Amino acid sequence: MFELETLIRPNIRAMQPYSSARDEFQGEARVMLDANENSLGSAGPDRFNRYPDPQQRAVKAALAKLKGVEPGQIFLGNGSDEAIDLLVRLTCTPGQDRILILPPTYGMYEVAANLNDVGLERLPLTADFQLSPELVQQIVASEAKLVFICSPNNPTGNLLHAEAVEAVLRGFRGLVVVDEAYADFAAAPSWTTRLAEFPSLVVLQTFSKAWGLAGLRLGMAFASPEIITYLNKIKPPYNVSEATQQHALAALHDAPRFEQMRQELLLGRRWLLEQLPSLDIVEALFPSDANFLLVRFRPDATAVYTYLLSKGIVVRNRTTQPGCAGTLRLTVGTPAENEQLVAALREYPA
Ligand SMILES: *Cc1c(COP(=O)(O)O)cnc(C)c1O
Repeated sequence: MFELETLIRPNIRAMQPYSSARDEFQGEARVMLDANENSLGSAGPDRFNRYPDPQQRAVKAALAKLKGVEPGQIFLGNGSDEAIDLLVRLTCTPGQDRILILPPTYGMYEVAANLNDVGLERLPLTADFQLSPELVQQIVASEAKLVFICSPNNPTGNLLHAEAVEAVLRGFRGLVVVDEAYADFAAAPSWTTRLAEFPSLVVLQTFSKAWGLAGLRLGMAFASPEIITYLNKIKPPYNVSEATQQHALAALHDAPRFEQMRQELLLGRRWLLEQLPSLDIVEALFPSDANFLLVRFRPDATAVYTYLLSKGIVVRNRTTQPGCAGTLRLTVGTPAENEQLVAALREYPA
């Protein structure tokens, strides 16, 4: 049985959150002398002399509409990496509790656990990077406070089978965090559509990938209002800057550009998928629902990696990741970049 209150760290349940000036007074007064801001203005070209909305209401209203959720089901963070860290801290007492990860997967889950002195339980995905029935059983039996399920998975690119994820959601007692950083490139519906069914579900998404705003640092978590309230309680009050909020709002109103880039990246993925198998050095190509491809090279992936670097092309070497021996992760670029990549690989000295 999932019971949120028993999962929250006792000190966090008990603590009073910081009450900021902008929490206590909202809106435009004629004279704003409550927050020790600089009423004269700002150095630099733009005005940022006022603290931003700590609850990011305008962005959440636009996002709620787009995603079909309530504003109270949205947490915004300084990248989804902040949400990952806060979720670990929300549920795990340092030196005592642990989280569960499913390698090969995104590296930040482990970093967040290590940073917070939280234990790490690893249950490797199957050879085809899926959850087997045995694996689901092991997850459900685990005492971990939280499991990170990355789908589409980084670095492998594949979606995890929905039935298996659902079985975890039905059986696991901790929080089930489905990281959907790459959901916009996948053909499956987002798990945000199932939030009402599963009180333990947290869905992570980001502006860093399909929206093309990695430099802005804005991540989203979608969950029950109860979980979101706890995340808001422990976040730094002004964790999303005014510049980020304004820019995200403008991006959300630029849906055509988002859709055009998304389609172009999907075309690029398809083109690479067509081109790469004809290369002798490509041993295997893994199916991808993301904006990258995991590719197994022969005879020596690291030599290919170094060769590409010498040509000014940097990809991600994943050869040391569990189950990923001999692989490089190739991000889909512009059509010209994709062509340069394939041309360079074609010229790889045999
Ligand atoms: C890129 C990525 C993120 C995004 O992190 P941000 O902090 O939002 O940039 C999250 N999860 C996974 C699996 C990723 O690959």
